[in-house]
Amino acid sequence: MISIALIGSTGSIGRQVCNVVRRYPDRFRLSALVARRNKELFFEQISEFRPARAVLTERGVIAGMPTAPDGVFLAEGEEDALKCVEDCDVAFVAASGFAGLKYSLKAIACGKKLALANKETLVCGGELVMREAARRGVDLVPVDSEHSALWQALHFDRRAPFEQLILTASGGPFYGKTREELRNVTVEDTLRHPTWQMGAKITVDSATLLNKGFEVIEARWLYDASFSKIRTVVQPTSIVHSMVAFADGSVLAQMSYPTMEVPIQLALTYPERLPAGLNIPDFAALGDIRFLPLERKAFPCYDLALTAGEQGDNYPCALNAAGEEAVGAFLRRQIGFTQIAEVIEEVLSRTERARADDYESLCGVDRRAREEAVKIIGNAQ
Ligand code: NDP
Ligand code: MG
Repeated sequence: MISIALIGSTGSIGRQVCNVVRRYPDRFRLSALVARRNKELFFEQISEFRPARAVLTERGVIAGMPTAPDGVFLAEGEEDALKCVEDCDVAFVAASGFAGLKYSLKAIACGKKLALANKETLVCGGELVMREAARRGVDLVPVDSEHSALWQALHFDRRAPFEQLILTASGGPFYGKTREELRNVTVEDTLRHPTWQMGAKITVDSATLLNKGFEVIEARWLYDASFSKIRTVVQPTSIVHSMVAFADGSVLAQMSYPTMEVPIQLALTYPERLPAGLNIPDFAALGDIRFLPLERKAFPCYDLALTAGEQGDNYPCALNAAGEEAVGAFLRRQIGFTQIAEVIEEVLSRTERARADDYESLCGVDRRAREEAVKIIGNAQ
């Protein structure tokens, strides 16, 4: 029986982790659940799974909840949330945002296997996280569909030799649109992703392609790849989840219908592959699987992310913070879609290079970039 501390249980990924645990109750047990404030769903989850620990990070929320089910220690605040990873076999970090980084670092410090969905962990703290994971000999398993695809094509060996890592992108809802056409797209248009159902932040990032830039930065750390070895290509139907090219010119692709339950389940069961409630793609019915170019300059957020990744040091962390603030403002309808990139660009131009390879410095970078972003958003309205 493998015990899982699930951080971000009420989110899109978290709910799919729960589905995998429901599918294999003899293999997996949720020893702890953590969410921020969605008390209704959280209460349903703790009633069903009866974790030893259940924590909502936002204070004051549990006051309005019914008494915890028998055997469940219910608490609030980040300190108790962090303790949840102390007592588990696998820490599944599926919280959103920069907040995810501290859970990943805590899991590594405790020597736990880390199933990593949270992107911001490696985008912001890649150098620190990979160094600590290596030092502690921690098994860091990618969950994002692209990184899972690469890891599968590398036979679950992240250090296997390769010539290129080829990330695929659906292109999002706005691929092929001009800058002029994008100026007036609405929040609703942006949240209508053609192939994936995800949380709001990552759905917006998939429309700006900031998400693909994040994945390039993550791939750089996960697979110790130079940026020159990482390529991206658009595959509009999201059947090919990514590919690895080898020295002899061969390319291995990982394919399935798009659902995150496959990479989530595999992160927990590998090298074993178990039924995941999914049909094998019907290739004859699918017809063409097309590949299209992703031009760096066509999506300013993607371009900014690649530049920040190449610059290194504090830039990716500042990029992420600016992105979180800008997307928040867009979702609150304070700025328009094309202003997301403008806010990020302006924050990065005000950011001075500095080393940021410990958690405290990263928090400082994150805070300062958010402050700048808030000022810029205020002036833009
Ligand atoms: P959601 O917004 O759907 O869910 C976020 C989850 O994190 C919720 O459970 C939320 O709780 C919780 N949360 C928010 N802040 C904190 C905090 N400070 N401490 C603990 N928990 C917190 O996001 P997604 O599930 O879509 O994404 C989660 C992460 O996985 C992101 O980093 C995303 O980039 C990455 N990812 C997601 C994919 C997807 O298909 N969705 C694919 C690949 C990567 P509450 O509900 O109470 O607010
Ligand atoms: Mg992805």
